[in-house]
Amino acid sequence: MLLEGQKKYRATQLFTWIYEKKATTFDEMSDVSKSFREVLKQKFCLLKPKVFLRQNAKDGTIKLLLEMEDGAKVETVLMRYNYGNVICVSSQVGCNMGCSFCASGLLKKSRNLTIDEMVGEVLCVNDILCEENGERVTHIVVMGTGEPFDNYENVIDFIKIVNNQKAFAIGARHITVSTCGIPDKIIRYGQEGLQVNLAISLHAPNDTLRSKLMKINRAYPLKVLIEAVKQYIADASRRVTYEYILLDGVNDSLQDADELSELIKPTFAYVNLIPYNEVTENEFKRSKNAKAFMDRLIKNGVNCTIRKEFGADIDAACGQLRAKQEKIL
Ligand code: SAH
Repeated sequence: MLLEGQKKYRATQLFTWIYEKKATTFDEMSDVSKSFREVLKQKFCLLKPKVFLRQNAKDGTIKLLLEMEDGAKVETVLMRYNYGNVICVSSQVGCNMGCSFCASGLLKKSRNLTIDEMVGEVLCVNDILCEENGERVTHIVVMGTGEPFDNYENVIDFIKIVNNQKAFAIGARHITVSTCGIPDKIIRYGQEGLQVNLAISLHAPNDTLRSKLMKINRAYPLKVLIEAVKQYIADASRRVTYEYILLDGVNDSLQDADELSELIKPTFAYVNLIPYNEVTENEFKRSKNAKAFMDRLIKNGVNCTIRKEFGADIDAACGQLRAKQEKIL
């Protein structure tokens, strides 16, 4: 670290000034010695991302397009569940995973987000909540643009910061990382000793279909993915959630439901069925079979729910707002 060799209490001081007192300059940090403030000024800056665009939905959802120091734009969403304020954080600028149904991948990855930029996403939303409602962010899902396990180290450090008592103190069980399925990182994640949740974007019950929908499956087929999930469960003693977007006529038949049940049975997982947010760029349509699909999974002994939808009147689909701004959609 850049501040190696400093006393521990310095870190506490800085965390308090940044997260609790919301300092915007080092000079405000009155209990920090002048000489140390000079060191800080030379090495760091206290910049937050700029809110480039904001959309408010009727249901209270807020979608922000944030601008980073180099001009990169990133989507962050606040959703208001009855159990808390959930922020959906992006982990990369663009995405290289190339899932055929997803608008985020329309803009290829230009770079990873840094730890402070991801923390900046939370800071921006937290400030809005605090000023406008006297509330704060209570849950985090790393489900925005990008593949978090393609930016592994930064995402783990980000989690440690938001989880820290002196920063946002968001409980590990209130933090979820979603991956398209990178086996070695799934295993590593299970060995971190963090009590954070893991969600896997599955979206298909067999390799033929999954490889068509998700490029990553060509590199890591389902057998390898499921083995990694089993290892994760053994190491972390935590259950995983599978995300499954229901696409009309593609993966939503009762036969698909049966095949899916068989596939995931050994991992005792929970399935989150996702209503598809249609994007004009592709042909995929939202399934009309969601209830029957869910009932079939339940009949097969699989725990599942249909994901609640937010922000129906704004650009809710992943990557949609940014792609529109960059004139892709
Ligand atoms: N790369 C990670 C996290 C970002 S995507 C992952 O793949 O999990 C977060 C979730 O949103 C994934 O399950 C993704 O498949 C889903 N998603 C992408 N586009 C969507 C759309 N148009 N409608 C609904 N869900 C979508």
